[in-house]
Amino acid sequence: MPKTVDIVCTAGDCELDMFELHYTYDMPAEVGIEDFQCPYCGSSDSLTEAGV
Ligand SMILES: [Zn+2]
Repeated sequence: MPKTVDIVCTAGDCELDMFELHYTYDMPAEVGIEDFQCPYCGSSDSLTEAGV
């Protein structure tokens, strides 16, 4: 199964709590959290995997 990860945004002024990122079989293995942006504040360097 493609993995599902919980993502949190660590930007201080961002109100986003958590969102889920669902990988698909079609996504290249090298695609990671750093390739995405926060859907709320748009920051691409404040996303981190929850519980890590
Ligand atoms: Zn954010």
